[in-house]
Amino acid sequence: MIKTRFTEMFGIKHPIVQGGMQWVGRAELTSAVANAGALGFLTGLTQPTPEDLRKEIKRCREMTDKPFGVNLTILPTLVPRPYGEYIDAIVDSGIKIVETAGNNPKPFLPKMQGAGIKVIHKCTSVRHGISAEKAGVDAISMDGFECAGHPGEDDVPNLVLLPAAANVIKIPMIASGGFADARGLVAALALGCEGVNMGTRFMATKEAPIHDKVKQTLVDSDERSTALILRTMRNTSRVFGNSVAKKAIEMEHEGKTIQEIGPIVAGAKGRVVYETGDMEHGIWSAGTCIGLINDIPTCRELVERIVSEAEAMIRGRLAKAIAA
Ligand code: NAD
Repeated sequence: MIKTRFTEMFGIKHPIVQGGMQWVGRAELTSAVANAGALGFLTGLTQPTPEDLRKEIKRCREMTDKPFGVNLTILPTLVPRPYGEYIDAIVDSGIKIVETAGNNPKPFLPKMQGAGIKVIHKCTSVRHGISAEKAGVDAISMDGFECAGHPGEDDVPNLVLLPAAANVIKIPMIASGGFADARGLVAALALGCEGVNMGTRFMATKEAPIHDKVKQTLVDSDERSTALILRTMRNTSRVFGNSVAKKAIEMEHEGKTIQEIGPIVAGAKGRVVYETGDMEHGIWSAGTCIGLINDIPTCRELVERIVSEAEAMIRGRLAKAIAA
């Protein structure tokens, strides 16, 4: 077992987190991750209304008695979302762990922490990590340029971002973006983190509630298969580089506005990809770690493999590298 401040703080067996994933972070996946001894998150905005989120939390509880949390991403959306009401649903449901992302969580902290919730803030830069720590969050998920979804605008990969953050951040920090196997976990520990957050890797698991064609695409694609959209709007998003993503980038270069591009990048269309396996129907998030995904295990197989291989690597190859 690998024990860190993060596993202790959140009462989990393994230092592995399945973070928010729009349309993917549903009860089937989150409960399977929790049952495997890792920390799973339901994605709040995947549920169309706060009432639906309450039901999804209840459904997840019926599938696991282990801790799990809810992700709340606070970013521009095509249709405005009532963030305050989503927080009410989280608090009223007795959730004790929340992953915030996308924006400064400070205004939301008193309500959540007042209800005994521990908050992990996902951010993409050292300066945002420092302000989240000052604001009083309990832990940081530091998200490098490799990540799926929103990598921020600084483009700093994790080999530099994580140790730079670890130099100044004192609260437990996990590494996010590019992590998919035991080598990543060992590297994250070496770089100053206390665990890893994985999104894309968990999409290629038996329990992920998405079409098999999406999972097979993750297995078949390499590390060059993603694309960055919405750069011109300073809301960069890393997605799978399909024809829709290429079209969106082309429209951006033509100077089109979010109102004009919105219909093709809409999450509602991406949802259809996950549900039907029509891989060119919309955009869908994917990180560069797709170059490291070669199979579709259960969540338990994946988590146990990562931890056991990481232990073997630390005890074996790394320990033996020290000259006598
Ligand atoms: P959506 O359909 O509302 O929007 C589609 C894309 O356009 C998103 O990337 C969104 O951020 C962007 N967008 C919308 N309005 C914009 C504006 N005015 N200016 C610039 N960009 C704009 O998004 P959705 O698929 O329903 O997802 C809901 C939210 O969750 C979005 O903000 C999305 O970016 C975010 N998200 C969350 C996760 C997660 O893991 N929690 C993953 C991916 C995206």
